[in-house]
Amino acid sequence: MVQSAILGFPRMGVNRDLKKATEAYWGGKLSQADLLAEAKRLRLAHWKIQKDAGVDIIPSNDFALYDQVLCHIQDFGAVPERYTKDGLDTIDQYFAMGRGHQKEGVDVPSLEMVKWFDSNYHYVKPTLQDNQTFKLVDSPKAVVEFKEAKEAGINTRPVLVGPVSFLHLGKADRGQSVNPIDLLDKLVPVYEQLLTQLKEAGAETVQIDEPVLVFDLPAKAKAAFKPTYEKFAALGDKIPKLVFTTYFGDVVHNLEALPKDIHAVHVDLVRNPEQLETVLGALGPKTILSAGVVDGRNIWKTNMKRAIETAETAIQKLGKDRVIVATSSSLLHTPHTLASEKKLDPEVADWFSFASEKAVEIAVIAKAVTEGPAAVREQLEANAKSMQARATSSRTNNPQVKDRQSKVTEQDHKRKSEFPTRIGAQEKKLKLPLFPTTTIGSFPQTKEIRVQRNKFTKGEITEAEYDKFIEKEILDNVKIQEELGLDVYVHGEPERNDMVQYFGERLDGYAFTTHAWVQSYGSRCVRPPIIVGDISRPAPMTVKESKYAVSVSNKPMKGMLTGPVTCLRWSFPRDDVHQSVQAQQLALALRDEVVDLEKAGVDVIQVDEPALREGLPLRSGKERDAYLDWAVKAFKLSTSGVEDATQIHSHFCYSEFQDFFHAIAALDADVLSIENSKSDAKLLRVFVDSAYPRHIGPGVYDIHSPRVPSEQEIKDRIEEMLQYLKPDQLWIDPDCGLKTRQWKETKEALVNMVNAAKYFRTKY
Ligand code: GLN
Ligand code: ZN
Repeated sequence: MVQSAILGFPRMGVNRDLKKATEAYWGGKLSQADLLAEAKRLRLAHWKIQKDAGVDIIPSNDFALYDQVLCHIQDFGAVPERYTKDGLDTIDQYFAMGRGHQKEGVDVPSLEMVKWFDSNYHYVKPTLQDNQTFKLVDSPKAVVEFKEAKEAGINTRPVLVGPVSFLHLGKADRGQSVNPIDLLDKLVPVYEQLLTQLKEAGAETVQIDEPVLVFDLPAKAKAAFKPTYEKFAALGDKIPKLVFTTYFGDVVHNLEALPKDIHAVHVDLVRNPEQLETVLGALGPKTILSAGVVDGRNIWKTNMKRAIETAETAIQKLGKDRVIVATSSSLLHTPHTLASEKKLDPEVADWFSFASEKAVEIAVIAKAVTEGPAAVREQLEANAKSMQARATSSRTNNPQVKDRQSKVTEQDHKRKSEFPTRIGAQEKKLKLPLFPTTTIGSFPQTKEIRVQRNKFTKGEITEAEYDKFIEKEILDNVKIQEELGLDVYVHGEPERNDMVQYFGERLDGYAFTTHAWVQSYGSRCVRPPIIVGDISRPAPMTVKESKYAVSVSNKPMKGMLTGPVTCLRWSFPRDDVHQSVQAQQLALALRDEVVDLEKAGVDVIQVDEPALREGLPLRSGKERDAYLDWAVKAFKLSTSGVEDATQIHSHFCYSEFQDFFHAIAALDADVLSIENSKSDAKLLRVFVDSAYPRHIGPGVYDIHSPRVPSEQEIKDRIEEMLQYLKPDQLWIDPDCGLKTRQWKETKEALVNMVNAAKYFRTKY
C-alpha cells in the first residue's frame, strides 16, 4: 500500500497559542511549567489533527518552542560558552540563544538568525568553535517527544536535521576559523547515539532532513554525505530506518551524494516535478521514494489529478510498496486551518487548503493510489470541481489586464533619458544641497495611530474622521522634518498597517485572511495576503496622502510605494501563472500609481524592493538569471513612466549585493538607499569597482535599536563611506524606516544625522 506522510506541522496552534504562551513566559506572566504544558497540549492537538485526517506517517520533533535548528544546537551540546556561563536553566538558555537575554545581571545577545532557504521562516545558525565538541543531552527532545506521542497512542516518525545540513547551515563563531563541515567526524557519533535511543524508544523510521542537497554545494560538503550515511547504514537494525529528506529544490545536480543504501528518499515534486524521472533512476534497488506532491509552501488546494498522476508514475516504476506520498516540505510555512476564516468569500475559500486541510488531501491521495480512484470518488470529484471553478473564475481572469500585458514593450522599461541627463533636470527642480538628507519613509507608528486605525476598522469612527486624523499626523511629520532641517521629506506612512497589505487591500486580485498566520521566527508570525487573480489598480492608492503632504511642505516630498517584487514575495503567490506574470501585473498597477503621484506634484518617488534578494533562486545559473531578469524588468516597468526631472529612489534593507550587483545597477534608480550601519563600509566597494554612476544613501545609523548615535559616530561613518563614494553621489539617511522607533530617539538621532551632513557640506 502507498502510505501518506507529513513532513512537519505548524506549531503555533489555531489561535497563535504558542506565540501567546512564549511571550507571556518572557514577560513573566506564565510559569515555565505552564509554558511546557501548553506546548505539550499543542503537540498532542496537532498529532490528533493529522491522525484524524487519516495520515499514515505523522512527524514528531517537528515542534519547537522557538526554532527547530536551535533545538538541535542545544541537544547536541553545541551551545557557545557565553550562554552556559551564567547558569541559566535549559529553557532560558534556549531562549537566550534565540532572542538574547538581558535580565538579572545576565546580558547576552542572540545567535544569528537567517532565512531558512528561500522561505520567510528564519532559523538560528549553529555557531561553532575551533575546538568544538558535541555531546548528546540526557533526554534528547526527539526521544522525549516520540515517547510523548506514543503514550498518546500515536506512532510517529521523528524528524531530525541531518548532520551535513546542520553543519553546512552553521558558521564559525566570531573570532573562530573552523569550517563547520570539518566537524562532521565529531558530530556523527552524536547522531548514532540519538538514532540508537530513538530505536530503543520504538521508532521504526526517522525523517532525516538534508535540504542543503538542493544547493550548489562546495566539494567538501557534497563529499560528506557518502561516508556519513554509510556509517549509519553500517549500524543496521540498531537504528531506525532513515528517510533522507530534501525539499525546496531539485537534487539532480547532486545525485551522486544521494545515499544508495537507504530506506527512503524524499524529494520535492511540487517545486521540481521534472526531477522525478532522474531521481527514480538514481534510487538504490530497495529504496522507497517519498514523493512530495502536496505543497508545503503555499495555500492552494492540491490538484489531486496531477498529484495522483505523479504518484502513479513513481508506482509504475517502483511498485506500491516503494512509494510514499507526502507534503513537499514541512507544512510549517502554511497557516493552521481554513476553518478559522469566517470572512473569506466562499468562492475563493473553496480554492484554499491550509495545513489541516492538506493533511486530509495527502490521505485522500494515498487512498486513491492504493485502492483506486473509486475509493475516494466523491473527494476527487469535488476537487476537480474546485480546480475548474478557479481556472475559469472571473476573479482569476481579467482580460483587460492580459490585454495590457500583451502590449508592454521594451521601451516601457526605459526612462526617457540616461542618468546624466536626468540628474541635471532633477537638480534644477529639486535644488538640493550636497549630502542631501532624507529618511526611508515611515515615522514612529505611535499608540495613537494604532488606536485610531483600530477604531476606523471597527467602524467606531467615520472615514472622514480617520482621514482628518491621518492629515494631522502628516502635518506634524512635515513640521518635525522642517525643524530637523531634512532636505527631502516623507509623509511618514501613518496610514499604513503594513507595507504589502496596504497595497494589496487597494488592488483587485488579492484576498485577505483573518487568522492565516505563519511563523516567521520565534514568536513572530506574519499573515501574508493572497494573490488570487490578475492584479489591477481600480483607483489611486497613495495619492491622496502624498498630495496633501506636498501641499503643506516647502521642500521636496518623497512618495512611497512598495515595489512589485516585494509585493509578490511577501504575499502567497498564485501557483497557476508564473511569478514573472504576477510581478508584471503588480508593476503595471504601480506604474500608474507612480505617474499619478508625479501628476500630483510629487517630485521624488521611492519604490521599495527589500525582498528582491530573498527571491533569488537557491542555485546560481539559468534559473537565477531568469529571476533577476524579470524582477529587474518589473521594477523598471513600474518606475519608467515618469519625466526625467522626477527622481526615482529605491530602498534595500541590506548591503550585500556582490552576488547580483549587475541587477541592482540595472534597476537604473536615480538614488538607492541601503542598509550599511551594521555591515562593513567595505561592501560599498562594489559601487566603486563597477563605476556605479548614480546616487547612493548607505544608512548611517541602525534603526533597529533605540540607541541614539552621536554626531561624531555618524561623521566617522560618512568619512568611511567617502573612501568609496564620491561626495556628489552620497545621500545621508538612516538604515531603514523608523516605524518601530519612539519619537524621542528618532528626533535625537536625526538631529545628529543632519548636523553631520552639514559638517561635510562645509568641507566640500
Ligand atoms: N518605506 C518603508 C518604511 O520606511 C520601507 C520598509 C522596509 O524597507 N522594510 O517603513
Ligand atoms: Zn529597509
